[in-house]
Amino acid sequence: MALPAGVRYVVIGAGVHGLSTAYHLALALKAKGRGTGADVLVVDKAGIAAGASGIACGVIRNNYYQPAMRELMAHCVEVWERDPEAYSYHPVGYMQISPECMREQVGTIYEQQRAIGYESVLVEGAARSERYMKDIFDDWQAQGITSVLHEKRGGYANNTRSIYGLAAKAESEGVRILTGVRVTGFERGGNSGAVTGVVTDRGTIGCEQVVIGVGPWVKQIWDMLELPKTVTISGADGTLHDGIPMWVYWSLQEGTLGVDPDLQRTNAGAMPPVIHLDTDAPLHSDVDGSLITDQLWGIYYKPDFHFGGVQGGAMPYRIETPPDEVHVDPYGPESPDFIVGDQFAHMWCSALAHCQKRFMSQIGKYKKEPSGGIGCFTPDSFPVFDRFCENVYLIADSNHGYKMIGVGELVAKELLGEASRLLEPFRFSRYAEGRLHPTSNSPFPWS
Ligand SMILES: Cc1cc2nc3c(=O)[nH]c(=O)nc-3n(C[C@H](O)[C@H](O)[C@H](O)COP(=O)(O)OP(=O)(O)OC[C@H]3O[C@@H](n4cnc5c(N)ncnc54)[C@H](O)[C@@H]3O)c2cc1C
Repeated sequence: MALPAGVRYVVIGAGVHGLSTAYHLALALKAKGRGTGADVLVVDKAGIAAGASGIACGVIRNNYYQPAMRELMAHCVEVWERDPEAYSYHPVGYMQISPECMREQVGTIYEQQRAIGYESVLVEGAARSERYMKDIFDDWQAQGITSVLHEKRGGYANNTRSIYGLAAKAESEGVRILTGVRVTGFERGGNSGAVTGVVTDRGTIGCEQVVIGVGPWVKQIWDMLELPKTVTISGADGTLHDGIPMWVYWSLQEGTLGVDPDLQRTNAGAMPPVIHLDTDAPLHSDVDGSLITDQLWGIYYKPDFHFGGVQGGAMPYRIETPPDEVHVDPYGPESPDFIVGDQFAHMWCSALAHCQKRFMSQIGKYKKEPSGGIGCFTPDSFPVFDRFCENVYLIADSNHGYKMIGVGELVAKELLGEASRLLEPFRFSRYAEGRLHPTSNSPFPWS
C-alpha cells in the first residue's frame, strides 16, 4: 500500500490502543456522519501486535486499589465481553489471594466493586480462605492467606489473536493499517506548534490529528515531540518535588511451565480463574528447600493453550539504567538484555508449588524459550491519557494496558469532542496539581 500524502487521523502503533482507537473512531465517525474509517490510517514500524500487546500474559481484571482504575477497567471488561470470539477472550474470572497486610485494602476494593455493580465475592479469615480455595483446587496449600477476592468477570485473552481480531474489525470499517512504516519525527506548524505532518522513513503524512499508542516506545515519541524529560509533582502535603523523570522502564518477568494446561482444571473439571497470589509467607525452593525470600512476594498464573502450558509471572523489577540509555529494541523475547533467566524460573516454579501440590517437582518442564519484556512507566506508574501539542493524543498506559481495550473507544469519543469522565483522572496535569491516585500495599507497581 502506498503511503498517503495526507489523512485526517494518523494513529501510530498497531497494538491494543492504536487499533482499538482506530476501530472505535471509524465507528464513531460513521455514526455521527462526520466521516468513515477511510479517514483513519494506522502506521506501525514493525507489524500488528509487534509490541507489548503481542507478548502480554493477557490477564484481564478489575482488581485495582485506585477507584479511577477500577471504573475504567469495568468499562474495558464490558468491551471484552462484547465479542469474546473475535477478541479470543476467556471469561474465567480472576482471584486476588492476599495476606493480612493487604486484607483491609482488598476489602475496600470489594466494597467499591459492589458500588459499581462489578460482581465479586470476598472471603475473609484464614480458615475460610483456605476452605474457599480448597473447594476450587483440592491441592491448594498456600499458608498465611487471610482474604480471597474472587472477581466473577474478567479472565484472560490470547494476546496476538485478540489484536488481530481488533485489526480485522478496524479494517472492516475501512481503516488502513500500514506496517513497516517507522515514525521518525513530526512537522509542526503555526504559533501553537500543532503537528501538521507525521514524518516517517517512507515520507511525510499530512494530518489533522495524531494518536500515539506506541507502548514501551512512548519515550522515543515523547522526545520527538520535545516534551519535558522531567516533571514536578505536588505531594499530598503540597510540597513540590522537582526533576522527577517522566519515564522509567521496568522489566516484566513471565514464563510458561510446559505442562498440559488441563492439569490446572478445577475440582469440578472446569477451566479455572486466573490466580494472583500475594503473600508474606516465606518462599522456599521446590528444588532444594532453601529460602528464596521472606519478603512480600507475588505471582499470577493461568492455564493457557495459546502459550502451551501454565503461563504467568512474578513481580517486575525496575531497570536502573538511565532511561535515555535503555534499548527498547530488539523488543520482547528478541531482547538480549530483558528476558527472564534461571533465577526467575526457580522462583516462579517454586511459587507455583507453594500454591498447589500439583506443581511440585515440575520445574524440569519449565519452557526454556526466551520470555518477558519491558514496559515504560510514568512517574506514578499510572496511565497518562491526554492531548499534547494541540492535536496529539497520547495513550501512555504505564504497562497496565492489554486489558484496557475500552480506552480506545473513550479516546475516539474525545477526539470527536466528547470528554470522558473515565479518562479525566489520567491527565498529565495531575502531577503538577497533586491529584495523584492512592497507592496500595501490593508488591506490584501496577495494583
Ligand atoms: C511481558 C508483558 C506481559 C504483560 N501482561 C499484561 C497482562 O497480562 N495484562 C495487561 O493488561 N497488560 C499486560 N502487559 C502490558 C500491556 O501489554 C501493555 O500495556 C499494552 O500492550 C500496550 O499497548 P500499546 O498499544 O500501547 O503498545 P504496543 O502493543 O507495544 O504497540 C506499540 C506498537 O507501536 C509500534 N511503534 C513503536 N514505535 C514506533 C514508531 N516510531 N513508528 C511506528 N510504529 C512504532 C510498535 O512496533 C508496536 O507494534 C504486559 C506487558 C508485558 C511486556
